[in-house]
Amino acid sequence: MSKIAIIGAGASGIMAALVASNNDLEIDLYEKNNSIGKKILISGNGRCNISNINLKKENYITQNPDFVENVFKRFDFNNFKKFCENMGLYLRVEQDGKVYPFSNSAKSVIEIFKENLKEKKVNILTDTVVNEIIKKDNNFIISSSIGIKKYDMVLVCVGSYAAEQLGGTLVGYDIAKKFNHKIINIFPSLVQLETNFKSLSILNGVKMDAKVSIVGIREKLKTNGDVLFTKYGLSGFAILDISPYVCKMLQNSDSVVLSVDFIKKYNRQELLGIFQKIQKLHGHYSLINLLVGFINIKLSKALLLELNLNKDVKIKNIGLKDMRMIVNMLVDWRFEIKKSHGFKYAEVCGGGIDTTKIKDKTMESKLVNNLYFAGELLDVVGKRGGYNLAFAWSCGYLAGLSIKKKSALKKRSF
Ligand SMILES: Cc1cc2nc3c(=O)[nH]c(=O)nc-3n(C[C@H](O)[C@H](O)[C@H](O)COP(=O)(O)OP(=O)(O)OC[C@H]3O[C@@H](n4cnc5c(N)ncnc54)[C@H](O)[C@@H]3O)c2cc1C
Repeated sequence: MSKIAIIGAGASGIMAALVASNNDLEIDLYEKNNSIGKKILISGNGRCNISNINLKKENYITQNPDFVENVFKRFDFNNFKKFCENMGLYLRVEQDGKVYPFSNSAKSVIEIFKENLKEKKVNILTDTVVNEIIKKDNNFIISSSIGIKKYDMVLVCVGSYAAEQLGGTLVGYDIAKKFNHKIINIFPSLVQLETNFKSLSILNGVKMDAKVSIVGIREKLKTNGDVLFTKYGLSGFAILDISPYVCKMLQNSDSVVLSVDFIKKYNRQELLGIFQKIQKLHGHYSLINLLVGFINIKLSKALLLELNLNKDVKIKNIGLKDMRMIVNMLVDWRFEIKKSHGFKYAEVCGGGIDTTKIKDKTMESKLVNNLYFAGELLDVVGKRGGYNLAFAWSCGYLAGLSIKKKSALKKRSF
């Protein structure tokens, strides 16, 4: 009987264990937390944005987009849907192709997975930390907090360094390096960004719908959605969505400048025209009266503070130059970003194990036979919207299937 170790009971490890399991295999699923799937449980604010129907390479940042495409060619959303329905886990598709469990509850996902792992007799070792993996002859020796065990095949899917409080770790990269795999520099993704300007403290908690872009890059990269001001900088969906690109750029530069358009509906010229009309009709308005018709009052005050303009001055006394400055700031407010809020607060990590040395059909290492890697540990990070769990399910599935097939072949050859 083949002995298999799966290190990490997250999305990819759980999927691999379910697919690989059969009577000819003994599977140990190691998990350092006291229960399985902690990140799944917290995903999508407890609703679990479990996948997305648009699983295309364009929705991922990686040095090897073909790898992502090939993984999804072999296990796409429809395959995943069928797999879930066979377990009695039904799904619903929402806006932008985001997929959630029908129950709208991450807890139900974990419950169903737990029940199926039990049914398939997977040996779940919670509260067990794997410290080292060594290959000796044709076996792998695993040292963990419960001792030393020998295996025929090992799948490492311990996840990325993001969100240490939920299990995030650097250990997977270290294991891969010991087996001569190259690591593409990691960076936090889907994370808040830190910035510094004088009125930040008064803006804490202010949320505005906006369009965000990176200044000075040729790519037409724009995100849309909430921008939320916090004590340390910027958050909200538009910021999280642009953060992977910002954090990747921060690896090679001291700062990145964001342009935030708080108006969206009108361009500079149109907005100036509207302001001039209001100026004519309501010259007695103060500057702050003019701005609150368009943006939050705290943001209006901060904008005037940044421009050194008196909020109480009557708009009939405002010249064209100052009016243009105000308009420019509203449609193109610049924020210098020097760092993200850090790996601890990131949902995911970009970078990871270089996938050119991983077989895209099976997730087996091209350098070491019978050693597999899957999930977020690889150099593949998705956009917000269920893309990261989707990738973890798909590569977990392929790894599990390959392990199952290999052990069946091994049995036949005896
Ligand atoms: C707050 C938050 C919200 C998210 N929301 C979504 C969402 O809605 N949709 C989406 O698609 N993605 C979401 N993600 C990302 C998604 O959860 C991950 O991409 C996905 O879980 C990665 O799966 P994985 O199997 O690669 O790793 P993980 O799910 O991270 O699993 C790895 C497991 O390995 C364990 N482990 C680590 N080291 C060891 C060790 N030495 N020994 C034993 N066990 C170990 C960890 O404890 C962990 O349980 C979210 C992430 C976070 C942090």
